[in-house]
Amino acid sequence: MDNAAIADRLDAFASLLELAEANPYTIRAYRRAAELIRGTAAPVDKLVRAGRVRELRGIGPGIEARLRELLETGQIAELAELERDLAPGLVGLGRFLGLTAKRSVEIARGLGVRTPDEFREAAATGRLRDVPGVGPKLELQILDALAREGEPRPPRGIHLPRARELVAGIAEAVGGEPAGDPRRWRDSCERLAVVCAASDPGPALARFEELPQIVAVIERQDRRAVGVTVEGVPVELVVAAPQAAGTALLRATGAEPYVAALGPLPDAASEQAVFAALGIPWCPPELREAPFRGEPPPLVDVADIRGDLHCHTTWSDGRASVVEMGRAARDRGYEYLAICDHTPAVGAVQGLTADDVRRQAEEIAAANEALAPFRVLRGIECDILPDGRLDLPDDVLAELDWVQASVHGGQRMPARELTARVEAALRNPYVRCLSHPTGRLIGRRPENAVDLERIYEVAREQGVALEVNGLPDRLDLRGEHVRDAIAAGVKIVCSTDAHGPERLAYMELAVHTARRGGATTADVINAGALPAG
Ligand SMILES: [Zn+2]
Ligand SMILES: [Zn+2]
Repeated sequence: MDNAAIADRLDAFASLLELAEANPYTIRAYRRAAELIRGTAAPVDKLVRAGRVRELRGIGPGIEARLRELLETGQIAELAELERDLAPGLVGLGRFLGLTAKRSVEIARGLGVRTPDEFREAAATGRLRDVPGVGPKLELQILDALAREGEPRPPRGIHLPRARELVAGIAEAVGGEPAGDPRRWRDSCERLAVVCAASDPGPALARFEELPQIVAVIERQDRRAVGVTVEGVPVELVVAAPQAAGTALLRATGAEPYVAALGPLPDAASEQAVFAALGIPWCPPELREAPFRGEPPPLVDVADIRGDLHCHTTWSDGRASVVEMGRAARDRGYEYLAICDHTPAVGAVQGLTADDVRRQAEEIAAANEALAPFRVLRGIECDILPDGRLDLPDDVLAELDWVQASVHGGQRMPARELTARVEAALRNPYVRCLSHPTGRLIGRRPENAVDLERIYEVAREQGVALEVNGLPDRLDLRGEHVRDAIAAGVKIVCSTDAHGPERLAYMELAVHTARRGGATTADVINAGALPAG
């Protein structure tokens, strides 16, 4: 069993524990373990067999026992039991129809049904109204949603890494390629698709319906099926005839306005061949939003990145020490890493005072000695106070190699005040980069009211860079803003804001988000040598 398959089982287990309303810490521990296992290069099945899996940080005795059981018996007994009890297929369908997990389970129990098909049949024969707690209004709502099961529905996005992991796992299992929003690295993914090529679509469709990720199938055609995950997220499988697989991949990758503007598409086996037949250069998926037929710019690549300029340690709310973070960055092939812990005004977590910053300097000096020629930079993520002053005095900032300025509290300030506040910070001579400029949290908090056009102007004038923050729920700046910032002459920094060594992997999200804005290596500061202090 490879790492991805093991991680998928742990994720499935976590989803079921969530349905069973288990302890949130347990659920989080399984999710974290899945993420860790997916991200590690070490073969986890070998580590388990050798009794060494707990050397991976975050794997405790409980999870080790589950992993051992999974590898020895091919399954986790409690997971199978939860599957029997909770009927995840019904929960997936219920969530897709707009019900909560709890409601879905209650209704399924009330009906005495176990599968989506039994549920549909019970609903069609008018048995819903016999279930305690289901009034005529809810019955109508469910019947209506069932009738529109195959139709497009209001978008409900999921985070990019989860979406990429889902389509990658499914693509691997059915021998296809990931497509849809995650292939374009869209920040919130609504259309998830996988395309595979086969003359006979039967085997791929059958495999798809059996996958642990797919709990219910809501649509089935000759060469296409739509299944839902336990979260109620629809995933589409397209099985194209081999001679038209490239065309199907291009279509399923989207986005719709981009594909529509290409006009009628010729059938071809590969995407390259479709572009060639259209007489236009191949277009990186990140640039396929608005209509575009031209020569794409030479986009920045993850391999071009030479350092990370925003991460945290145990000095504030990170999980690893300075030297552990530095070593992890060096192991990724970087030349430098800036330690940017918080300052006191951040509030919720511990922040560094001027004294702390000077004490941290000693630890950073020691790390530099241990890791040379790799460079650990003395940085800070300094809060911008409500009046635009910074949370540390200038003489402290002057000692540092790299200063990020951030708005944390007070995101809801009106546009004029917030813009003036950020502008004042950009004019501080020591500030090098503005972190997560719009403050959005995808799906939870909208972008703040800051006047970005004004910020681009001042940033260019002051030589301050703007961050593309790679945290999956931030991705801030987003692609469209990156495009505008570059056009205004502003430099970009792709950062992870990592709070632990494995999170340095979020660089991928930051870089691909910058690519969506057309960023080249010349636009991205950390695609270059160590920035001068
Ligand atoms: Zn921050
Ligand atoms: Zn941060």
